[in-house]
Amino acid sequence: MSSHELELGFEQLLIERGVVAAGSGAVVPLHFDAQQSRLRIAAGSVDPTHFTYRNPERAAVVARTFPWSQGYVTVAVPYLTALDREAQVAGYAYNRCYEDLRGTLAASVAYLREAGLRAVSLFDSNQAFDKGLARRAGIGLVGRHSMVMVPKVGSRVVLGSIFTEQLLSVSVGRRFRSDPCQSCRRCVDACPTGAIRLPGTLDAHRCIASILQQDSWSPVDRKLVGARVYGCDSCIDACPIGWTSRKESAPAPLARWLTVSDQELLGEVGHWYIPRRDPFYVRRNVANALGNRGSLTLDERRALALLCVSSQTRERIEGLRALLRARWAR
Ligand code: SF4
Ligand code: SF4
Repeated sequence: MSSHELELGFEQLLIERGVVAAGSGAVVPLHFDAQQSRLRIAAGSVDPTHFTYRNPERAAVVARTFPWSQGYVTVAVPYLTALDREAQVAGYAYNRCYEDLRGTLAASVAYLREAGLRAVSLFDSNQAFDKGLARRAGIGLVGRHSMVMVPKVGSRVVLGSIFTEQLLSVSVGRRFRSDPCQSCRRCVDACPTGAIRLPGTLDAHRCIASILQQDSWSPVDRKLVGARVYGCDSCIDACPIGWTSRKESAPAPLARWLTVSDQELLGEVGHWYIPRRDPFYVRRNVANALGNRGSLTLDERRALALLCVSSQTRERIEGLRALLRARWAR
């Protein structure tokens, strides 16, 4: 098979798997991303425990991890977000889009290996800056809200990359002709906590999506997250790029998540980032969201009452706190 045939076949595979954007590039150090990360760590605007901030140098130089790699292909797999802006679970966490991404990356690696090339894939990893790879591959821009956005669907995508020993030329989807953020600040206005400070940078200490993943909360954090349980779609939903790719989604089964066993709960939301994989943190987030929201249904009231008699003291405290807060929220 010639290189051209290999690339055409690869593009076809990606299109068939629903990839909305893909691009390729040479494996080179991402010094700009490393420098941005260092500046943000120094400014105290990030959570330094977040995976890519633990070791920016490592994430910038992929060749340290895969010395044989010459080229890479970054793919964007879309997901649908809820029309409801108050959705309590973000679209990427509610839809199982990471399963789609994992499947696409596995199929891509298998395709390249079958053609005799060495290949591996990465996503959500501290071994590579997803954003930097996507930007260099030309598939999208980093928006004012700090996320990569691609034409047609905006930031409603999850990203992954395939590294291989041959430089490939792969291109799927359209490209932006100009920067849509130039005359827009809808995401800034829509952010409920004012977390979007400078264009393209977030204050992680105010970003709801980040706070919800922390294992300890201050009273301010408890209030800031509002009725969210996991992630936050407000800035993504405000973005005019990709409005048409939204859909109605069923509400999250919050009362059930408070009452099912640990095993069942992790079976449903185990793909989330949960501190130490401890189901308590999911129940804490659910109880806090219900308390902040108020107007409880009978099922939600019962579920919180059951949490108040849990065998774990910290769960009993969360249940009681939520019931008291819901009274004030009415
Ligand atoms: S995810 Fe939510 S809190 Fe974070 S920047 Fe976007 S709108 Fe603001
Ligand atoms: S809402 Fe506007 S400013 Fe924000 S990312 Fe989208 S286009 Fe850019």
